[in-house]
Amino acid sequence: MPVNDLLQLSIAEIRAALAAGRLRAVELAEAYYAEIERGDPGIHAYLTLSRERALQQAERLDRLATAGSPLPPLAGAPLGIKDVISVRGVRATCGSRILENYIAPYDATVIERLDAAGAIFLGKLNCDEFAMGSSNENSAFGPVRNPRDPERVPGGSSGGSAAAVAARTALATLGSDTGGSIRQPAAFCGVVGVMPTYGRVSRFGLTAFGSSLDRIGPLARSVADAAAVLHVIAGRDLRDATTSSLPVPDYAAELAAWRASSAGSKPLAGIRLGVVKESWRAGLDSGVETAVRQAIARLETLGCRFIEVSLPRLDAAIAIYYILATAEASSNLARYDGVRYGYRAPDAGSLSEMYRRTRDRGFGPEVKRRILLGTYVLSAGYYDAYYRKAQQARTLLAQDFAAALAGCDALALPTTPTPAFRLGEKTGDPLAMYLADIYTVPASLAGLPGISLPCGQAGGLPVGLQLVGRHFQESLLLRLGQALESSAA
Ligand code: GLN
Repeated sequence: MPVNDLLQLSIAEIRAALAAGRLRAVELAEAYYAEIERGDPGIHAYLTLSRERALQQAERLDRLATAGSPLPPLAGAPLGIKDVISVRGVRATCGSRILENYIAPYDATVIERLDAAGAIFLGKLNCDEFAMGSSNENSAFGPVRNPRDPERVPGGSSGGSAAAVAARTALATLGSDTGGSIRQPAAFCGVVGVMPTYGRVSRFGLTAFGSSLDRIGPLARSVADAAAVLHVIAGRDLRDATTSSLPVPDYAAELAAWRASSAGSKPLAGIRLGVVKESWRAGLDSGVETAVRQAIARLETLGCRFIEVSLPRLDAAIAIYYILATAEASSNLARYDGVRYGYRAPDAGSLSEMYRRTRDRGFGPEVKRRILLGTYVLSAGYYDAYYRKAQQARTLLAQDFAAALAGCDALALPTTPTPAFRLGEKTGDPLAMYLADIYTVPASLAGLPGISLPCGQAGGLPVGLQLVGRHFQESLLLRLGQALESSAA
């Protein structure tokens, strides 16, 4: 098969081609590595390649195919993994100097499951340090460039995960989303990004940032590929007590069944979508607004009925998030003390000096800012005014979502207020950077699932439509996404 055709294959097509003997997994992995070598130096999505493990897995799958044995669901699918997720034997920097030489000693649960499902791990993807950021410019190893326009950021913190999919240097990737880090870069790079319900996917082996918010999810070129990956990684895990034991639907099979049964012109008839009226606020780019409204009109043509809903506390979401996420981060990052993980300052005269120097040199400015902020909001005297208040406000915001979702099946809103901004444009102004998360942070705080779907362009740059569903209703979001995707084709 010509290399260009190889890089176009979907997960289902790869498996079928392997089973039919038309493709070898080693050949496909090599084609992706060649593309990484050619295209990644200009993008910098990859921090580490895991070639040895990838080729071992590819050879194993080729042996299975040659023997005519049944192939696992993701057989031969070349994936990239955000560097905050542990892959045994491979460096896991989390985008931080403090973990520059840290080798993960075990597989995250998601990796274990993907491995058993026949996926191939090409390597680890660049991200903002400890997943803190919206542009990937907080990576200690340099930024990622947006493949759609290299002068612009790919979004963050899963910038490498979105850029690799857009640049076709990975078929699909895993990202993590604490306040938008899957959905926002997906929107900026023009790919599909799924943040599952909190508790749907195990966090075991994900480096903790804000433990009550963190989720792992897929980024992919198509909704079907994202669904196939989600199906494999979702489900109860005894090593993460917050995972749900609700059964996991076979998302990709559901999509295929819907596609087959929805030949009519109104495949989405009966679905009610809520348009969040507070979305149309100052700061929303007019090109983004037009593209999102057009996508909503398209869903209407496909049969969805739209109602207007309100999230009256949407404006408070950024403040709530940046109090709670930093509080949790300040606690989670206490473990990087030079004793247990990664870098240790070699030149300290005392234990406390060792801690200080290690953390001062190991952490970048944004991480330090957040540790300071988080420590402050948790300190005696400020705890009630900030942390407790933010927890209360989080509950009220979740209640707003519950009220809005009582009258409809899912919500539609922009993923981001603007298309991808220029590198360096917001680095001097943390608050402006935080405001880029206005549409993604609310669903994070409410624990709800969200998907970002490519929906046209603004000024030549990709725009994302965000759909937010009820808890554990990923199936509906994927179904809407597939319908929108095929209506665009
Ligand atoms: N941009 C947000 C932040 O900086 C979200 C990050 C994330 O989802 N990991 O915290």
